[in-house]
Amino acid sequence: MQNEARSLGYNLSMVSGFRSYQTQQAIYNRNVLLDGEELANTYSAKPGESEHQSGLAFDVGAIDDNFGETPQGKWLHENCHKYGFILRYLKGKEDITGYKYEPWHIRYVGVDVATKIYQQGITLEEYLEVN
Ligand SMILES: [Zn+2]
Repeated sequence: MQNEARSLGYNLSMVSGFRSYQTQQAIYNRNVLLDGEELANTYSAKPGESEHQSGLAFDVGAIDDNFGETPQGKWLHENCHKYGFILRYLKGKEDITGYKYEPWHIRYVGVDVATKIYQQGITLEEYLEVN
């Protein structure tokens, strides 16, 4: 996926991949200190609950709310399913996923599932509910 993006002039370099429990704990604790627990819980997973600990989730491009409006952010959204990834936390689906919109956070689910989820415009939660 990164090769195809690069050939189009897009930079989708990995910002964050696998995290250990200890790393996630440090990140979460820092976010709670900065923003308080209630706000931190909308964007930061508690240790043990982060998809990054599964090794299946990656943050690519830029950790920036406007990333989804950039050419590479749009390309990522429209093409990552071809490589088995979904955009995990969609805009307007915050109530379902429990997380705010994260245009940079992708999760590997395999090409078949990723394609269905993308084409239906649904979240992993919604997919798992009906399948
Ligand atoms: Zn992430």
